Amino acid sequence: MSELTPEVLISEEQIQSRVLALAEDISADYADGGELVMIGVLKGSFIFLADLSRRLSIPRTIEFIAVSSYGNGSVSSGAVRLVMDVRGNIEGKHVLIVEDIVDTGHTLKYLIGMLKSHRPASVRTAALVRKAESAEVDVTIDYLGFDIGDEWVVGYGLDFAEQNRTLPYIGVIKPTDG
Ligand code: 5GP
Repeated sequence: MSELTPEVLISEEQIQSRVLALAEDISADYADGGELVMIGVLKGSFIFLADLSRRLSIPRTIEFIAVSSYGNGSVSSGAVRLVMDVRGNIEGKHVLIVEDIVDTGHTLKYLIGMLKSHRPASVRTAALVRKAESAEVDVTIDYLGFDIGDEWVVGYGLDFAEQNRTLPYIGVIKPTDG
C-alpha cells in the first residue's frame, strides 16, 4: 500500500507571521473597548485559535462551538447542524468567530446567523484559509490568513479522517509511489 505524505503548501514560518499580523489587526480594531469573545469552531480551529488568541494585546475570552462536518469524506453536503452551542452568555459582547477553513461558506454563514440570534454587540469572522474558487454563498471574512485552491488540506488543526491535525504546517496529501 502506498503511504500518504503531506506536501507543504503553507510553511510553519508563513503561518506564524500571518497569524501575528492578523493578531495585530484584531488588537487594533478592538482596542476601543467592549468585551471580545473569540469563538472557535471545533475541531479544526483549535490550534489557530490558540496561537491567534495568545498574540492579542487586548482582553478576550474564549468559547467553543461545534457543528457537523462532512464526516470522514471530503464533499460538502451544504447542510450544517449545530452539535455544541456556546456555554457563556455573549449578549452585548463583540463576537469573533474563528474558523479553520472556509470552503463553500455554508458553515460560516450559518454560524453568523445563529450567533446573531444571541444578540451580541457585533459579529466578525476570522479564517486561516479560504478556498476562494469553492464559494457557494457570499460571506465576509474580516480577518483572512491565506487563499488556496480547491484541494484538501491538512495540518495546523485540519484533518483527513482525524489524522494530521498536529502538523505545524498546512499540507496537501499526495499519494507516493510504491
Ligand atoms: P464550508 O461550509 O465552508 O463548505 O466548509 C467548512 C468546513 O469544511 C471546515 O470547517 C472544515 O471542517 C471542512 N473543510 C473544507 N475543506 C477542508 C479541507 O481542505 N481540509 C479539511 N481538513 N477540512 C475542510
